[in-house]
Amino acid sequence: MKAIQFLPAILLLFIIQSKIFSQEHLSYIDKQEYFEIISQGEFQSKSQIGTKEINPGGQINLKFQYSKKSLEEAQIIPKNLNIFFQNVDQALLTDKIKTQNKYGSVSIMLDRRAKNFLKYSKRNNTIAGKLKVVIDASIFNQLAEPTDFKETDLALTPVIPAEMYFEIKLSEKLEDKQDALNKMNAELIINVKSKAYDLQGVKIPALQFVIEESNFKLEMADMLLFESVQTLCLQPVFIRSYKLIWKESANWPFLSTPMLSVHTTGLGLDFGIPALRNQWRKADVVFEIREPIILYNPEFRIMDVDERTDLLDLVDEDDCIEIYFVQEFNPNDFAGGGFTMGSGTASAKVVSSDENAFWGVDETHLAHEVGHVLGLRHPNAEATSTSVPGSTGTLICPSGFRNDNPPFNSLENMNLINNPLLQFSFQIRSTITNDCNESADCGSCN
Ligand SMILES: [Zn+2]
Repeated sequence: MKAIQFLPAILLLFIIQSKIFSQEHLSYIDKQEYFEIISQGEFQSKSQIGTKEINPGGQINLKFQYSKKSLEEAQIIPKNLNIFFQNVDQALLTDKIKTQNKYGSVSIMLDRRAKNFLKYSKRNNTIAGKLKVVIDASIFNQLAEPTDFKETDLALTPVIPAEMYFEIKLSEKLEDKQDALNKMNAELIINVKSKAYDLQGVKIPALQFVIEESNFKLEMADMLLFESVQTLCLQPVFIRSYKLIWKESANWPFLSTPMLSVHTTGLGLDFGIPALRNQWRKADVVFEIREPIILYNPEFRIMDVDERTDLLDLVDEDDCIEIYFVQEFNPNDFAGGGFTMGSGTASAKVVSSDENAFWGVDETHLAHEVGHVLGLRHPNAEATSTSVPGSTGTLICPSGFRNDNPPFNSLENMNLINNPLLQFSFQIRSTITNDCNESADCGSCN
């Protein structure tokens, strides 16, 4: 840690001249130096779904921002506050949606349309407040709309509005922790409540989630020298099929031998990874890409439009985003060659056609779909509680089939992204930066 104390002077000169230093986007934080608090902790909750008491375990991932000035005004900005519970019996939420996965996730995130703030009390050493949040569950993904994908490649998952009481009692005062990198312990109390809710005709009972953790660990860093990196887990899903073919013998024209032809989808993964990593690294997002899961369901190798719900129900990893690769869609140009069910939610899933790789044009396609997973909509779309429009002239512009999305990313996209599965960590500021700030200087979509 001591070595870090010497780095500031050297790095400062360099950073001041770099584009990364421009913080005009942080309208709520002063243009002066600001800090971020991050944490990721595991917990056991005391929760209730309807009248049934459950104690699901889970993880909280948070990122808050403050400056010296905002502390004087007792304000902390909860940039990301995500909670997700694993192994929750989905039938407790509803028995109206049929699924092959009895257990799944429930996640809680800030309502993207609400102006959420937390109060810092110097006297009590607490950060506390009431926040508008939304609740998502694995099973809600099957209610994603629109279902026709004529105009778009994105269907939004409906979520339940809820209220959160949030409080952390810090072991030390924030003002006393002004080094480049600090650590602190805290006591955490979270209480989330929602009323019984009609989710597109499906009745969901009242929900309550209570988390009390006395050994909660926080890290804070000076953003002049550090940046927070967010890691998202991706789970590729391939489809393998076998076909018996008869090979004619060259010497004996009437003799054929049977041969097994094996085909596995997934051509689009290696094809899409370079742009996925390059484009999102500009927004400080890195990916943990798991080993592919291989399904032996040849009926989905060429996916018909109305098969998608059955396909997406086959794999459901609570802590990772599934990306299915099919050989082609029927019709081929369906949803422009790939689509995302759910935006900004832990239950989001992507389906991509290997034809993107076959034609060799849509290099940014996978990065685009993951942009939807990260809570971005197309630039002209309306903001919802989980998904907000990104910048024109960037990878989040729609492209259609056999046309690539713009290979650019913006500061605005970086500031807007969220997904409950993002995990935050600090690193010394890198020189990799965005291509542009926002729609005004990023160009148009076509
Ligand atoms: Zn799209």
